[in-house]
Amino acid sequence: MPISAHARAFVDDVLAWLSHAGDARLMRAIRSPYSGIPHDAAAAYAALTPHIGPLFDALAGARLALPTAERDAVLRFVERLRALSNDVPDDTAALRDAVVTAFALERDAEPGPQAAAAELHLSLQESQAPDPRAGIRARQQHFSASALNAFAECPRKWYYRYVCAAVEDPGSSASFYGTAFHLALEHFHEEFPRPGDAGEALMRARIVEDIDRAFAQHRDDFDSAIEVELQLRRAQRTAQRYVDWLVAQSRRAPFTVIGRELPANLDLGGHAFVGFIDRLDRDDGTGNVSVIDYKTGAIAATAGEYLEKVRAFKDFQLPFYYWARTEQGDRVTRLALLPLKDAMLDVEPVVLEVVPVPATQARRSEATVGTIGIDVLERARTRMIEICTELTDGSIESFAVTTDPSACTYCAYKIACSQRPHAEREKFGR
Ligand code: SF4
Repeated sequence: MPISAHARAFVDDVLAWLSHAGDARLMRAIRSPYSGIPHDAAAAYAALTPHIGPLFDALAGARLALPTAERDAVLRFVERLRALSNDVPDDTAALRDAVVTAFALERDAEPGPQAAAAELHLSLQESQAPDPRAGIRARQQHFSASALNAFAECPRKWYYRYVCAAVEDPGSSASFYGTAFHLALEHFHEEFPRPGDAGEALMRARIVEDIDRAFAQHRDDFDSAIEVELQLRRAQRTAQRYVDWLVAQSRRAPFTVIGRELPANLDLGGHAFVGFIDRLDRDDGTGNVSVIDYKTGAIAATAGEYLEKVRAFKDFQLPFYYWARTEQGDRVTRLALLPLKDAMLDVEPVVLEVVPVPATQARRSEATVGTIGIDVLERARTRMIEICTELTDGSIESFAVTTDPSACTYCAYKIACSQRPHAEREKFGR
């Protein structure tokens, strides 16, 4: 019975191994589709062969922890080889037939001339008319400030994430660090809503426990035990700096934490928005409310820089929280980003004081405290409504890619995004 050229190559590899040719031929055999071993399992064995001893022994001992179906395929392959080596026919032709039969290769017979001719008789069909072009509508029931931030950063990214749901973002070590840190601070302030009344030593001891507990809860998210340990140490050092700042801030102006991971719901122009505020403080002296957003990634370094992002409609997070709490009747006078990324730096928030008429501030100022006018917050709210309307009325036919290559650096859709901009150094190498 004739077999295909690829099947013949597989038979040759099996025969070579039966004649003691060694692991290289067996490795080729297991990577052939005729072996019956799934590609990933064969590749894993091939990659690890130098470290796990003779390949046949590794296969027979099921040395790699594989899903049941894949392990069974490996063992089936081993059984066939065992049967062949226990009952080796004298002549090569008989042995070749035995391999063909053992692996049921007859099914892969090459097509005869008649079958080949039949395949050439194709009947051509009229091409189908393409579907009419139409705009895309957001399917979301709710919007969030981070979704609008994604749209502002790169409309194509928003499309991939919220319309296609093309790739599940598996998260990263940095994002799990942030999740665990947020959880630790939520627990910490449950016990210490008024840091000014608490003993500093007690707070320092408790935050160590809260960080330990939160990272233990999320340890399976990280790639490795080493990664957990590194991020945990970084968080512990940063948390002590956080307590430094808390103590100093409480002395300057005592305050009470009145909300932790507080749901923020808001209707903007008929569009429902949802979010969670990391922390909400009330000044004990004035009753004014501050919105605090913990930041465990890169943020604006100065108040002026953050203000520019809000003005340019690149960041809607704190404007959204401002309007959500204002609607609830709070007198929100401060919006703050609290950096918790760098264990080597003091915790110094970037603060925008909300004022009716903003003070003039130099764009290049290094100050971390500045002002934001209510008019800027109002414009941000108007723009949020406009974006939601664009996203829901089906008027967008094509979502543009960003013009800033740095936005693509950690983008989960980078591989699929053929139109993404390239940094200068990448262009040089293309
Ligand atoms: S790779 Fe760049 S251009 Fe493409 S979706 Fe991501 S951020 Fe946008």
